[in-house]
Amino acid sequence: MRIVALAGGIGGARFLRGLREAIGPEDEITVIGNTGDDIHLYGLKVCPDLDTVMYTLGGGIHEEQGWGRTDETWSIKAEMKEYGVGPEWFGLGDRDFATHLVRSQMLTAGYTLSQVTEALCVRWRPGVRLLPMSDDRIETHVRITDEQGTRAIHFQEYWVRLHAAVDAEAIVPVGADTAKPAPGVLEAIAAADVILFPPSNPVVSIGTILAVPGIRTAVAAATAPVVGLSPIIGGAPVRGMADKVLAAVGVEATAEAVALNYGSRAALRDGTDEGGPGHREGLLDGWLVDTADESSVAAVEAGGIACRAVPLLMTDVPTTAEMARAALALAEQVRA
Ligand code: GDP
Ligand code: CA
Repeated sequence: MRIVALAGGIGGARFLRGLREAIGPEDEITVIGNTGDDIHLYGLKVCPDLDTVMYTLGGGIHEEQGWGRTDETWSIKAEMKEYGVGPEWFGLGDRDFATHLVRSQMLTAGYTLSQVTEALCVRWRPGVRLLPMSDDRIETHVRITDEQGTRAIHFQEYWVRLHAAVDAEAIVPVGADTAKPAPGVLEAIAAADVILFPPSNPVVSIGTILAVPGIRTAVAAATAPVVGLSPIIGGAPVRGMADKVLAAVGVEATAEAVALNYGSRAALRDGTDEGGPGHREGLLDGWLVDTADESSVAAVEAGGIACRAVPLLMTDVPTTAEMARAALALAEQVRA
């Protein structure tokens, strides 16, 4: 079975670790990773979400933090501070720096981000094929208003420095409109037997991947069933500040609202969705909510999306593998 998953950072990576446990030896996973969080620091290209997936699946992640390397040291950062060179708010440890050095060196030599990612994965052996969503530069920016007025800042500054404490007025994946999907991305979606949306951020992770021209349409048109897992449990994100970015796109922070915002593919198939102004292709055949959100199952199903309530807390790998099995089982049900 060929499984394709769209993934952000922590939520995506932890889910993938469970998914890898849940599949058989003949199954293969292709991950389409978000690169909208990418940032250039100290002349280096940093790809936080790709690295979180790579380190998590490769056994190098700082487990409690969910990002960065295990057993990290911080000499370079301290030295940079002595020079008065920041940003101080972004954590790049010494071991992590090596990844960004290799990546930047290869990009400067003319390799594409896909080629670089493949090369980095030779070391980490993540057990999945990890593709960046695009080889083109895309950086998510957030419009905010504070005492300095209204301006756009890099998503990392919004998330890491400001902790999303200011309202996000708009979220723009700068560069996405002219970007192309990376080689293999559309092919993997078209050839997939199952497409999964892990419990990643629906706006700045999955939403950004879908903003690359061609990807949303390819998912909507895929022959494979598309099943997602809710990152929202009991009306709040399990981790992070997804509610802030959901508010920016006018979506309530509930498992049900997130599913309905992705939309149902059934409408497209039975011809009830005729397109026209404001038309968006629906994406989901199935959706998993946590047992705490059992009461929202009926509303999601009324929206044309098959829905089940199962435990969705990724407390450990076996529990997460159980979530992945539930997603694959729902995919089989909607396929029939
Ligand atoms: P990021 O790029 O590091 O922010 O990671 P992702 O976009 O892949 O995932 C972030 C989302 O993961 C957040 O919206 C969280 O609510 C969600 N998340 C984190 N841990 C869990 C969990 O145990 N269960 C579920 N259902 N969602 C989770
Ligand atoms: Ca991210």
